[in-house]
This record gives sequence, C-alpha cells and structure tokens, in this order.
Amino acid sequence: MNTNKMDDPFANASKQLEEISGLIEVDPNVLVKLQEPEKVITLRVPVEMDSGETKVFTAWRSQFNSALGPYKGGIRFHEQVSLEEVKALSMWMTWKTAVLDLPLGGGKGGIKVNPKKLSESELEKLARGYMRGIYRDIGPGVDIPAPDVNTDPKIMAWMKDEYEKLTGSPAPGVITGKPVADKGSKGRDIATAQGGFYVMEKVIAAQGMEKDGLQIAIQGYGNAGETFARLAKEAGYKVVAVSDSKGGIYNESGLDITAVSEHKKKTGSVVGLDGTESVSNEDLLELAVDFLVPAALEDQINEGNAKKIKACAILELANGPVTPAADAILEKQGTLIVPDVLANAGGVTVSYFEMVQNKDDKYWKLAGVLAKLKEKMDKATTKVLQAKDEMKVSMRMAAYALAVKRVADAMESKE
Ligand code: GLU
Repeated sequence: MNTNKMDDPFANASKQLEEISGLIEVDPNVLVKLQEPEKVITLRVPVEMDSGETKVFTAWRSQFNSALGPYKGGIRFHEQVSLEEVKALSMWMTWKTAVLDLPLGGGKGGIKVNPKKLSESELEKLARGYMRGIYRDIGPGVDIPAPDVNTDPKIMAWMKDEYEKLTGSPAPGVITGKPVADKGSKGRDIATAQGGFYVMEKVIAAQGMEKDGLQIAIQGYGNAGETFARLAKEAGYKVVAVSDSKGGIYNESGLDITAVSEHKKKTGSVVGLDGTESVSNEDLLELAVDFLVPAALEDQINEGNAKKIKACAILELANGPVTPAADAILEKQGTLIVPDVLANAGGVTVSYFEMVQNKDDKYWKLAGVLAKLKEKMDKATTKVLQAKDEMKVSMRMAAYALAVKRVADAMESKE
C-alpha cells in the first residue's frame, strides 16, 4: 500500500469538520463538543502466547458522539492502529450513521496488532481480553461494536460470548456482525460492498454515465474489496484491476473474479494470476478507469499522488482513503468523489438491522435484508446528490452538511 506521506487521520477528520462548519450554520457551543470524542478508553491487553511468553497489546475504544443513539462502530485489528486513527474512525462513524438516518451515534475500536502473526488460540485470547477491558463501557443501547479491518464473525462471536460470561446473561445485541448461526443477520457479511454497489449504480444513473464497458479498479481484496469485485463483475461491469497488500493485477478486457479469488485462496495473494499483468498499488490508483474503488486503508490518495489520478470517479469503500489535501486537488481536476460516510455505510446499516432482529428475536430472509438496504442506500444517495446540487459543493461536503446538521440538532434539542 501507499504508505509514504501518511497523514494524521484525526487531523484530517478535524479538517473536514472545520470545512463544513464554514458552510453551514452550527452553534459554536455545539461545534466545540464535536471536536473530540466524548470518551476514549485506552487499554493494554495481555495475551499468553503459545510459546508461554506474555505479550501486551495496546488497544482503544473511542466513543465519539451519542446524540442520535448508542455509539456504534467496528473494531479493527491492524499494526497501524493508533489513538489518532481510532478517534478519526469514530468521528467518521458519527457522520455515517447520521447520513443514513440511523438511530445511532459513532464509535470505533482498535487493537495495534498484526493478526496474521497470531495463532487462532492467541487471537481468541486477544479478542476476549479486549472485551474484558471494555465490557463495563459498552452494551446493547450503550455502545455496540462490530467487525472492521481484519475482524470477522468468529471474532464477534468470541467477544459476545465473553460479554455474556462477564455480565451473566444473554445479550446478543451487544455486538453486530455475528455469525448467522449465532444471532447474526443474513447479508451482514456482504453489506459494505453491496451498499457501496447500490450507491455506485445510483450515481452512475444520476451522472448519466455510460454503463456499457464501464471500467473499475479496486484497491484492497479483503471482505469489502473482494465482494465488490464479484458484484460488479456479475452486473456486467469490467473490473480491470484489483490489488492486495502484496501488489496488483491488471487485464484491460476485465478480470475473471472467480479465478482471482481462487488464486488468492491458494497463494495468499492476487498477484501472479495467469493472463494478468502485474501492477503496483501505486499504479493501480493511477489507472484511467471510470470508477476507482479504494477498499483498504486511509490516506491512500494524498497530496503526493492526487494529481496523477485519472479515474472519473472515486467510490470510497475504505474509511478515509482520500486526504483533505487530495480532495482539494481532485475537486479542481473534476474527479467525482463518493465519500466513505455514504459509500461504505452499508455495513453499519445492516448492523442496525441486526440489532432490530436481535431485539425482536425474529430473523429476516436475505432478500428482505437486501431490499431494506437498497431502500436506505438509495434514499441517502438521493439526498446527498440533492444537497450537492443545492449547495454547489462536493458530495463529501453535502454528506457532511446533512450529517453534522442532524447530529447538531439532536445535541441542541437536549440542551
Ligand atoms: N466497520 C464498519 C464501518 O466502518 C461497520 C461498523 C458497524 O457495523 O457498526 O462502517
């Protein structure tokens, strides 16, 4: 990944808030409360490794804002996790739930660890240890974690189990993204990509873009990137390039996504698939495609490479992949950016559906989940596009205008 020129993600998130506060009216007494999380928990999680040695991992949970409902957001396991990153992600979650008009606030958690270096039992100890550190501060109706980068339904199930053991009663609603067999929602596994796909289709229609032969490049082949590639291919779009942390592959007539996934499963990377050309992650970002879909980490498109971006549009499936400095350059270039707080909100939307199903203890069919997701994503996209035209601002600022206003109004109404 493009790790040179890493910006501080919280400084970037704060810059975006500052920018929007100059465009809409927000009470300064409210704005000042939105500049930092309401609460941040820092913890050290000791894990007895398989070798017998004890390692201690640093972790956080940032509870940014709860004006619209309980804190909500995933838990990330990654070597690059930092306090600044977790704070930024929790601020973005606050805007995301607000753009989708969900009765939820924003939060985020993270552990600084490379999970690929841990055995399954070490990973389980880490997940359970993290829950022991935060369980007094979370709960259904208080703060509901979920998966994020490198965390999955199995990890959610361990955390739920640990929470129930600690509190002594069943509480499926304490966490979302659980396995379907353990009170999870159907469709939660594909929700981020599926939601982003609905948004892209709506934007294509609104912009009058030619669907035939539309080319897409995807950076990142984790859950969101891989699922998005499959959905795009199934819908007849040409996915010409994909990448993972080891590099990328390109084929101008479109990749066979089933073959890419099989190759990745076998070899651990997309790189080296027969009939494809190798490209670096940097080159992939600079391809002249219709849609560039960053689906990895923050800061990938920054001041250093923004001028070289040739895509017509960027769909932010990752959180924070484009820095504010790059935003300004791309806006001048006329690149349309579909912001993360809208584009990747499908995950948290189905998480909300999971909370509703847990509350009623009634579970929905996949078709019902997807129909409701589509309705939510379409409505939010239409509203953001309308605000963009009315305010004559970027899609990001339009989404922020809607979100910050919703959160600020809820805060003011409680004063
Ligand atoms: N981690 C996801 C996100 O960044 C999902 C959060 C959730 O489901 O609560 O939106």
